[in-house]
Amino acid sequence: MMNNQDITAKTREYVMNTYTRWPVAFARGQGMKLWDVAGKEYIDFVGGIAVCCLGHAHPSLAEALSRQARTLIHTSNLYHTEGQADLAERLINLSYPGKVFFANSGAEANEGAVKLARKYAKERHGGDGYPYEVITAENSFHGRTLAMLAATGQKDKQTPFEPLPVGFRHVPFNDLGAMEAAVSENTCAIMLEPIQGEAGVNVADKPYLEGVRSLCDERGLLLILDEVQTGIGRTGKWFAYEHYEMRPDIMTLAKGLGGGVPIGAIVAIGRLGEVFQPGDHGTTFGGSPLVCAAAHAVLDTIENERLVEKAALLGDYLQERLRALMEIEPSIVEIRGKGLLVAIELAEEVAPDVVDLCMARGVLTNKTGPRVIRLTPPLIVSERDIDLLIQALTDSLADVKKGETTR
Ligand SMILES: *Cc1c(COP(=O)(O)O)cnc(C)c1O
Repeated sequence: MMNNQDITAKTREYVMNTYTRWPVAFARGQGMKLWDVAGKEYIDFVGGIAVCCLGHAHPSLAEALSRQARTLIHTSNLYHTEGQADLAERLINLSYPGKVFFANSGAEANEGAVKLARKYAKERHGGDGYPYEVITAENSFHGRTLAMLAATGQKDKQTPFEPLPVGFRHVPFNDLGAMEAAVSENTCAIMLEPIQGEAGVNVADKPYLEGVRSLCDERGLLLILDEVQTGIGRTGKWFAYEHYEMRPDIMTLAKGLGGGVPIGAIVAIGRLGEVFQPGDHGTTFGGSPLVCAAAHAVLDTIENERLVEKAALLGDYLQERLRALMEIEPSIVEIRGKGLLVAIELAEEVAPDVVDLCMARGVLTNKTGPRVIRLTPPLIVSERDIDLLIQALTDSLADVKKGETTR
């Protein structure tokens, strides 16, 4: 069997170098734990970037997948399957009356949502020329396809691929005045993350998101919420919009929905569910029996183990412990987030060192920038796991102060 170094080297040789990766290769997981190929144990506060909501190797997800794999994996969307119909019903019952489209990733769900908004605007407008512009936020993240790169408000990610598809405009996040000023006769929709995940866990203010909702109502615009990271219990509600007195017209989901199996979804409210007609949109793998079985197991387990409520409670405990650490640790300047989507902002650009030192101590965390550590643990995390994280952070921050690194 290859060791961590061999696998790292082979990856460098044969896999495109699109990710900055740690030189570790994981072999298996169980609950909150992962083991690398050398047998070193880690406690996982990354959760596959807010994906593995049930932790690793959860028996109900493993059983559902293996049962479905032995029964029927894929048939195409030329036909119906009960699992897909039931899953759509379930997502509607959890959110608002409407209809669902199944995709395979966050970017694909978002791209479909923008297509839906454009078709709706075009039909309402009639004639030639129609409002097709979508306003998104600076520092947003909506995915890596060309159109979603154009939607993503990060210049450095866009520059290498310009010219990008047209029809996107960016405004500062949490600035209602800037949003109002940006709306024009060309606007068809506003697309926002209720909490900007990749940008370092920036939570939308209540008056802001509710104000954007009113603005959309006044100006006849659709509000698309990208809940790819925040949906499915992550923030202590099924969907992050439930923290606000509003709901979106279109919501996109992906990360947590399959518990690690790739699935995305567009959830469109009311008559927006009728906008796409045969031929307008599609995807080969979308909503296959296999991924729908996984998503059912995820939703069943979240319900049975009350993981949404737990995410709220454990998220409070996590923030409480982090705030207590901040009081004695001046290198921490801010703790922010909701539920189990939490960021630690540091005074200095040492987040990579802290992540690295925590890893050496057997605790996985993730940085979203040089000064920000993001925590997105499985929703099954316990107080004891959080205590272990706090200890690792405390020790690692002390090491950084002493100038120690693992390199
Ligand atoms: C991860 C993420 C995406 C992209 O999802 P992919 O599955 O990688 O395409 C889009 N939006 C948000 C908010 C995300 O966190």
